[in-house]
Amino acid sequence: MQNRVKLPCGLSTGSGPRFNSRGSLVTCSAAFCDNEATHILEFVPREGNTERWGAYCENCPERRIAPAAEVDAARERGSRLQGQDFDLTRLPLSDEHWRYREFTDEERAEIEQIKVGALVETYIKPGVFEWHPPNGQGQGEHQVTEPHFDWFEELTPERRLERQVLQLVAAHDGGLEAQRLGKLLERTHRNAWEPVYDTTWDLARRGLIEVSPKPDDPEVKPCTYMMTSAGHELADEIREQARARGRYWRQQQPDLPQIEEIDNTEGRGERTVTWHFHNLVTASGSLSFATWTRGEHFVRLWTPEAAFRDVLAWRPRRLVSSDSVQELAGAWGPVGRRISRHRIFPAPDV
Ligand SMILES: [Zn+2]
Repeated sequence: MQNRVKLPCGLSTGSGPRFNSRGSLVTCSAAFCDNEATHILEFVPREGNTERWGAYCENCPERRIAPAAEVDAARERGSRLQGQDFDLTRLPLSDEHWRYREFTDEERAEIEQIKVGALVETYIKPGVFEWHPPNGQGQGEHQVTEPHFDWFEELTPERRLERQVLQLVAAHDGGLEAQRLGKLLERTHRNAWEPVYDTTWDLARRGLIEVSPKPDDPEVKPCTYMMTSAGHELADEIREQARARGRYWRQQQPDLPQIEEIDNTEGRGERTVTWHFHNLVTASGSLSFATWTRGEHFVRLWTPEAAFRDVLAWRPRRLVSSDSVQELAGAWGPVGRRISRHRIFPAPDV
């Protein structure tokens, strides 16, 4: 995950060495590209009115520009086959409106400054970073000095799902029904559910959860998952790791500004708390967010488009405050903003 960073001349680039996995000095603006930026992408809504889109690597496949006629033909073919739902974002960019160019001298000079360390990636506010001279004076400038922590990238998708299932079962003392598990993980569609189903049986074989009814049980009732004591032990361990990650962030970045608190309850009482993180942000500046609804024993992380991304949970018998939930959510990154809401997210079951 990268930040989008602005140069003093206004040019957008991707993160510097502290926020990309390869340690590249100044990266391409594409969200998941760690290549060095070498060119400028321009958007030309009409001739003589050029917008500078950002610095990109030469090969970024998402940014490949194709002849307008080809792009038009591909769009027509796609719409004919898939109708209105055809996903235009996957098409190449039309050379009628998009082009690459070399850096200007001014742009190149600023990028050279990054390379020699005269400009460093500087935190401004959640999701907003700029390149500034090191130890930049002025209010609100906080240099983030540690590499991006990857709670996600360390694990394969299978291991991540295993961790999520175990956490959610731990959060339901009376057993968790299969249907609700699928819903909490946003995996209700059959294809998305299958890996969850496989994971539950794998966890059961390893003695971490119990599945009832057993396959040979004559009684017909919904499939339910319960924790074993070995399962609880492992879930506790995962939770401790999460807390340690949160502490790591706080120790490494003691100079981050105070958490911004926003009250969106309109006086009707807080039911859901939402958190934003300093560096879980997409190329367009959209923020991932975590939510916890009072009465639930888990906190979930969502992409900016509100798709499920991760979950951390605790045993129901523990009394929790929003502060302790926030501490746990800190595993995903340093918290920058906290919003109280009356509206429940996601919408409650009906
Ligand atoms: Zn790229």
